Amino acid sequence: MKDKYDLIIVGSGVLGTFHAYHALLKGMSVAILEKNSKPEGTTVRNFGQVVPSGMDRKWQNFGKDSLTIYKDIQSKFDINLRQNGTVYLASNEEEMQLIEELHQINISNDYESNLLTKEQCLSKYAGLRADYCTGGLFFPQEVTVEPATMIHKLHHYMTASLGLDLFMNTLVVRTEDRFTEVIATTSTGQEYKASKIIICNGSDFKVLYPDIYNNSDLIVSKLQMLQTKPQPNYKLDGSILTGLTIRRYESFEECKSYQSIKAKEDQESFEKKYGIHILFKQALDGSVILGDSHEYASAKEIDSLGFDLNMDIDNFMIEEAKKIMDLPTYEIQSRWFGMYSQCKTKDIFEHTVDENIHIITGIGGKGMTGSAGFAKHNIDKIFNA
Ligand SMILES: Cc1cc2nc3c(=O)[nH]c(=O)nc-3n(C[C@H](O)[C@H](O)[C@H](O)COP(=O)(O)OP(=O)(O)OC[C@H]3O[C@@H](n4cnc5c(N)ncnc54)[C@H](O)[C@@H]3O)c2cc1C
Repeated sequence: MKDKYDLIIVGSGVLGTFHAYHALLKGMSVAILEKNSKPEGTTVRNFGQVVPSGMDRKWQNFGKDSLTIYKDIQSKFDINLRQNGTVYLASNEEEMQLIEELHQINISNDYESNLLTKEQCLSKYAGLRADYCTGGLFFPQEVTVEPATMIHKLHHYMTASLGLDLFMNTLVVRTEDRFTEVIATTSTGQEYKASKIIICNGSDFKVLYPDIYNNSDLIVSKLQMLQTKPQPNYKLDGSILTGLTIRRYESFEECKSYQSIKAKEDQESFEKKYGIHILFKQALDGSVILGDSHEYASAKEIDSLGFDLNMDIDNFMIEEAKKIMDLPTYEIQSRWFGMYSQCKTKDIFEHTVDENIHIITGIGGKGMTGSAGFAKHNIDKIFNA
């Protein structure tokens, strides 16, 4: 532990870690303080799909920067990055219309995408059902990471090669400005000093600054996920996003047919009630991760989302997945939920407590995609201010 750091990050999830990464590249001394013995937040509970194609224009640009950053790190150190592309599979004429429009938008954005015929999709994705798929839109530059391991590997690289000090089991209970320095005090009374502190606390709103969160428009989303047993003799490359995703992801809102197609949807349907869309990603052990659903509560009512899993949601997701993909097995090996925070009215939550203490959270469902690129921009902003 140094006497004083240039920067302390509170929270070792993907958003905090990439803030640390960009500060280290600028030659700063950086410490991350994490309350758990290893990252257990949203960063290890997600799909690991790095999909700028699904974001609005601003976040697509951060996502594109993230792709470059991830690929650069992978070229120096193995973080299990796989460049195997993202596909959006349409299931009817309306969704075909939307992927064709998104393809045109991406041509004008100079972002590579390829329209696939039904036959091309069926030959590229084993098990894809001919009675589901009408065509696809493929983004070859996009990548996947393994959420359970990527952040550990990245921490290892940053401590071994970039000089990061990483303190686990270190719950920060107070941050304060003492004029010449800022102090992070832990639950054991230990003080860490720095020139600046950035708090990337994910959806932990109870310890630091609860009033700020309780009076904000931050909400929390609870997402249910499933993972099959390893699939025998089966390979599924990349991120597989399907019809309900086409109807949900922000990038499609720019399509000219989007509003009229959305207006025809049944607002009372089960998938609408629980914000369900079906995505697939094969993990390194051969299992397939399936999801997801969305239930919402305000930051101050986070506990109302409960600790349990709703089996009706799980069963619905499995039945919908079976209509899309004939996997060798749908036997489930694990189930979990993750929670992310997001703002109702902004794309991210940024609050300056005082000149040298910043809170950055609420990156929503785009953290694995956008954090690396956004953090680069944000470190520049905070340190050049
Ligand atoms: C099911 C699911 C699937 C998803 N899939 C994708 C996907 O495929 N692609 C994508 O781009 N995004 C995806 N996301 C979103 C993405 O996972 C999140 O945006 C991202 O992980 C948020 O990272 P974070 O660092 O803000 O939060 P977290 O990962 O929650 O990290 C916050 C950290 O801060 C620590 N902390 C909090 N308070 C303190 C304190 N006082 N002292 C010390 N430590 C503290 C916590 O312990 C935690 O480790 C998904 C999310 C979910 C839930």
